[in-house]
Amino acid sequence: MPYFSYKDGILHTENVPLNEVAKQFGTPVYVYSKAALTENYTAYASACQQFGQGDDPALICFSVKSNSNLAILRHLSQLGAGFDIVSGGELQRVIRAGGDPSKVIFSGVGKTSNEIRLALKHNILCFNVESLPELHRINDVAKEMGKQAPISFRVNPDVDAMTHPYISTGLKENKFGVDYLAALDCYRVAAGLQNIRVVGIDCHIGSQLLDDAPLLAALDKMIELVDRLAHEGIRLHHLDIGGGLGITYNDEQPVKIAHYLQRLFTRVNHWRLHEHQGRPIKMMFEPGRSIVGNAGLLLTEIQYLKDGPVKNFAIVDAAMNDLMRPAMYEAWHRVLPVKERNAPAKTWDIVGPVCESGDWLARERQLAIQQGDLLAVMSAGAYGMTMSSNYNSRTRAAEVMVDGDKFHLIRQREKVQDLYALESFLP
Ligand SMILES: *Cc1c(COP(=O)(O)O)cnc(C)c1O
Repeated sequence: MPYFSYKDGILHTENVPLNEVAKQFGTPVYVYSKAALTENYTAYASACQQFGQGDDPALICFSVKSNSNLAILRHLSQLGAGFDIVSGGELQRVIRAGGDPSKVIFSGVGKTSNEIRLALKHNILCFNVESLPELHRINDVAKEMGKQAPISFRVNPDVDAMTHPYISTGLKENKFGVDYLAALDCYRVAAGLQNIRVVGIDCHIGSQLLDDAPLLAALDKMIELVDRLAHEGIRLHHLDIGGGLGITYNDEQPVKIAHYLQRLFTRVNHWRLHEHQGRPIKMMFEPGRSIVGNAGLLLTEIQYLKDGPVKNFAIVDAAMNDLMRPAMYEAWHRVLPVKERNAPAKTWDIVGPVCESGDWLARERQLAIQQGDLLAVMSAGAYGMTMSSNYNSRTRAAEVMVDGDKFHLIRQREKVQDLYALESFLP
């Protein structure tokens, strides 16, 4: 993490000391590095240019649910990103941020008629369809609007992503996608519908994948389907392999973006030349975590140190409502003191003030800390702010983007009045 480092004993994001951010905007606050975001997106974009074939070999659709802040969406859009959305709300965010709807793909198992209508109105690139009833609904809505809806099926390749069961999505027993063996029939049905235009195929097998072998296995199975469909005269324009690349939280060593894409394009290019009669096929990706996860941290202040008979607790002003991943997946996040202290370390559990035993951010960490110190919960850029809630009537954290030696507020801290603004009394 070159964008997060100590200078003169103080943790910085790029050239900004984190105590300055806390002083100006308070805590808890999410802090992102613009340079880190740029670097991660560019790793995808340049590998696609380098290893893909043709003028326009790939589209990188940032997964909006990993971080949907408008400033982040706008920055990625300016770098050329498309977007993978899972709700009408996310589409409205992309549009508000200045993103191009013609680079938007719409995933998710439960799209409502209103969401489909909104997406058709804005002429999105593709619906990733997850069931036949959904296909028929999209056809009906498109018919009503006098349009043709571009679709791909999200196919479940039944490969084991070897990740946490809550973030594994590509197995037979998952709710996602259509069954691999049923996929051909689904495409035949779609090809026969008036208001549907078949354009692609999609899969997404899980998240925080450290090895690319499951992704490449899924690719092989998708390619096999593309060939079979071509045989029946159903020609696809794109193959979307989903997101899912992992990041380093602790000591994990995920495959490098460039290495994965090199291996992937080697296969795709070889297949295009030999089996696919040189026909073009655009590759699409839906990365979230690998772009924004290690580009952000959650900054929090220690309220109390509490020595217990068995454990020592550092009670901080961030909680499970701010960063849900530890409570939900027992996720491990590195915790760094903003100010390095020359004192003996003790073992601490870092916990929040929420009335739940599950409200912890980190366990059994060796830290030299004092009341009032700032802690940085690292690798919190993905599935941090977007999964936060107002549990315990806690206002959601502010968000700040660091850019070199400047930093900008990109979301104000909520006020309590905001929380009950939509509520009303009985008459
Ligand atoms: C969540 C999600 C992604 C992003 O996954 P990451 O692991 O964050 O890269 C991509 N596609 C779909 C359909 C998703 O649901």
